[in-house]
Amino acid sequence: MRIAVYPGSFDPVTKGHQNIIERAAAIFDKVYVCVMVNHAKTPTFPTDMRVNFIERCTSHLDNVVAESSDDLLVNYAKSRNATVIVKGLRALSDFEMEFQMAMANRKLEPTIDTVFLTAGEEYTYLSSSIVREMARYDADLTPFLPEEIIDDVKRTMHDVTYSQKKKG
Ligand code: ADP
Repeated sequence: MRIAVYPGSFDPVTKGHQNIIERAAAIFDKVYVCVMVNHAKTPTFPTDMRVNFIERCTSHLDNVVAESSDDLLVNYAKSRNATVIVKGLRALSDFEMEFQMAMANRKLEPTIDTVFLTAGEEYTYLSSSIVREMARYDADLTPFLPEEIIDDVKRTMHDVTYSQKKKG
C-alpha cells in the first residue's frame, strides 16, 4: 500500500486543491487530505467545516479520507503509515518555502518523502485567499470552487463579514 498525505489549510478547499487530490488519488493507493491546524494562522472557516467541505467534494474518490490534525506533519503522516507528503506547486513563488519545508521534514523523518504535483494549468492563479476575497463581494464562485460547497462558503463568508462589520 502506497499511502500519501496531502496537508494544507484548505480555507476553503478550491478547484485547484480538488485537482491535486484527484491526481494524487490516481497515483497512490490511499490519500489522507488533512486540514492542519496552524496556530500561527486564524482561519475563516472552522476546522470541522473545512474537513466537511473536502469530504463533499471528494465523495467520488473512494481512496480519499478527509480529516484534521494539530500534530506535527511528519508525526501525523507516520500515524497513518504514510510514506509520502503531497504538495501542489503553483508558481516559482511557492517553491522556496515548500523546498525548505520538504528539507526540514526529511531531516525529521527520513522515511517520508515529499512529492510535488504541478498545479493544473487552469488553476495556477487560484488560492483560498482569492476565493475569500471574491466571496466577500458576492462574486460568482463557480470558476473557483467545487459546486457542492459554493452555497455554504457564501453563507459563511456573509456571516463572517456581517459580524466583522458589526464589531466595527
Ligand atoms: P493556500 O495557499 O491556497 O492557502 P493551502 O495551505 O490550503 O493553500 O494549500 C495546501 C496545498 O495545496 C499546498 O501544497 C499548496 O501549494 C497547494 N495548492 C493551493 N492552491 C493550489 C492550486 N490552485 N493548484 C495546485 N495546488 C494548490
